[in-house]
Amino acid sequence: MASVREADQIPSPGPRHEVMRLSAHETAHFTILSRTWWKVWTHWDDYRARTIPCDQDQANCRGCQNHLPLRFKAYLHVIHHEARKAVFLELTPNAAKQLEGQAPPNEPFRGLEISLARGHGPKAGLRLTVNQYHPRETNLPPEQDPKPILTALWEMPDRRRRFRGEVA
Ligand SMILES: [Zn+2]
Repeated sequence: MASVREADQIPSPGPRHEVMRLSAHETAHFTILSRTWWKVWTHWDDYRARTIPCDQDQANCRGCQNHLPLRFKAYLHVIHHEARKAVFLELTPNAAKQLEGQAPPNEPFRGLEISLARGHGPKAGLRLTVNQYHPRETNLPPEQDPKPILTALWEMPDRRRRFRGEVA
């Protein structure tokens, strides 16, 4: 008879920061804390239904080796107004282009207030709108680098590894 596997340790809590994705019909408001975004190539692992990073070393990239679709993602550290907490926001290429097109040129993103809406259906695109800019807002919490936290979420064996397409 099989025996129950007992736990001899209490597992440590998960990462403090979660990655925010918008569901259909959802609208959310954010203040950007990051001065700039973290842009990376990822793969969509359909089998495990999750995002995995694309490794700079493509010969050792599980996604490239298995021909998983390549997806661009841009990550920002933001305050999510409705939830009243800081999260990492994941932007699609389309949303990233909308932010780039509306943000003041050559200025940091930090202090921008944006809203993000997703239309009907799982494939509906994101609509990003820049509402206000408070570049001299001093009450904002410090920004956090998404890289170490997302790297931990993605279970990268080596956290110092560089991702393909990464802009340092
Ligand atoms: Zn890859």
